[in-house]
Amino acid sequence: MAEILVAAGHREAKLVEFADTVILNTCSIREKAAQKLRSEVGRLAMRKREQPDLMIVVAGCLGQQEGEKLLKSAPEIDLVVGPDNIAALPALIADFELGGTARVLTEFDLDAPRFLASNPATGRTPPATYVTVMKGCDERCSFCIVPHTRGAERYRPSREIIDEISLLVASGVREVTLLGQTVNSYRDPNAELPRAPYTGESRWQHTSRIVAEADESEFPALLWAIVQHAPGLLRLRYTSPHPRHLTRALVEAHRGISILAKHLHLPVQSGNNAVLKRMIRRYTREEYVERTAALLDAVPDLVLSTDVIVGFPGETVEQFQDTLSLIDEREFVGVFAFKYSPRPFTPALKLGDDISEAEKSNRLAELFARHDPKRRSRLSSLVGSVQQVLIEGQKADGAYTGRTARNEIVHLAAKADITGKLVPVRIALAFKNSLAAETVDESLRVDARELPKLARTADRAKVEAVDDVTPSRDESAGATTRVQLPVL
Ligand code: SAH
Repeated sequence: MAEILVAAGHREAKLVEFADTVILNTCSIREKAAQKLRSEVGRLAMRKREQPDLMIVVAGCLGQQEGEKLLKSAPEIDLVVGPDNIAALPALIADFELGGTARVLTEFDLDAPRFLASNPATGRTPPATYVTVMKGCDERCSFCIVPHTRGAERYRPSREIIDEISLLVASGVREVTLLGQTVNSYRDPNAELPRAPYTGESRWQHTSRIVAEADESEFPALLWAIVQHAPGLLRLRYTSPHPRHLTRALVEAHRGISILAKHLHLPVQSGNNAVLKRMIRRYTREEYVERTAALLDAVPDLVLSTDVIVGFPGETVEQFQDTLSLIDEREFVGVFAFKYSPRPFTPALKLGDDISEAEKSNRLAELFARHDPKRRSRLSSLVGSVQQVLIEGQKADGAYTGRTARNEIVHLAAKADITGKLVPVRIALAFKNSLAAETVDESLRVDARELPKLARTADRAKVEAVDDVTPSRDESAGATTRVQLPVL
């Protein structure tokens, strides 16, 4: 959004107080986001009384979900745009400034899907960036509002994806994360991808042949094509995959493609088959375990993280214990756990919401109490080791921040500008959610006494970290003129 608006002549305000147009980018995955939007709009409405030309825009999935209703409940809102209408933002803002009335634009571009390509020419592209490969969702998970807010699956032609990545690499990008709601269900609409090795081969013990065939996609073929056509790319990630499309061909892509990150975020939601069935996840615990085992066998140093919902309707204490046991069994390095939140337009609404808020909180606390020490001891075990860190940027206090191939966040000091470089570092300290390190290269090394400063940086980073493993991801309703990370 920021790129589109800057290209159209807008400037980004340093503080929301200085902005004359405020865009609230929203998520609707849980109810909390809606509450947050209400209070944010309330605050802006007060300001609008003194600054009548302040324009309030609501973008994202809550806008899509609520549409006209939002304007009725908060007449101070001037514009509501759905995720498929972002490209129209500059025109809509210009219209409004010329005296237009409040508008809602939430149409899906089902017939001619558009994908926003980043524009490296603006010089804002960081070393690690995102490329959308598909949008919408054809899954029907009973708890999830995404099929309603994002519509049916639409895929971007592989040629466009590869061209964009090549352009990004040429402008200095070193890491790309492919984005999509079920990113690994990707198919090339123009059918231009050569078949990936092992496509159609599934030796799954727990998935029958016909169902396994339905799990096939062209996502592994896309990965192979990207590495072939963008040789300067140092790292490739993707999010978020659906477990049922973790096919043999995808496992083999992980085995064969060295730039694929050694980390996969693979949402499991529950470790109990009856709950998975009520969630309409279309896999069993055994299938999840079998397929992730095949992946770990192919890439032994790969780590997994996951999403879990606690207190789904009818979840008994025993069924919740199955989720805990799966977390133990799979040794996830990160678990994002959420209390079940009933959402409009979802099939699970008819199941009620019978687990009390207090019980949901207890289960969440139990889960974190069990998982946190493991996560900490894992981070601590890295102290002393050498890791390759891709440096993503520099903080105001001079410390650099980057990530390992396994997605651990690392802070370090260096004598020269190392942004965008893959740097070998020795881990010196482990914090709650991140690490501090010194460069292996002595000519770059800054005195170790700098490390307490890094500790403060790391402390602040806890709040900002993308992979902060606390329930705070519940706070994902974005705000202000600053563009948030894509919320999937
Ligand atoms: N496409 C991804 C999910 C993206 S939403 C997938 O299906 O795997 C991110 C996470 O939010 C989900 O994985 C789920 O754990 C959580 N979530 C989605 N709907 C929710 C709801 N109604 N209540 C609580 N958590 C929910």
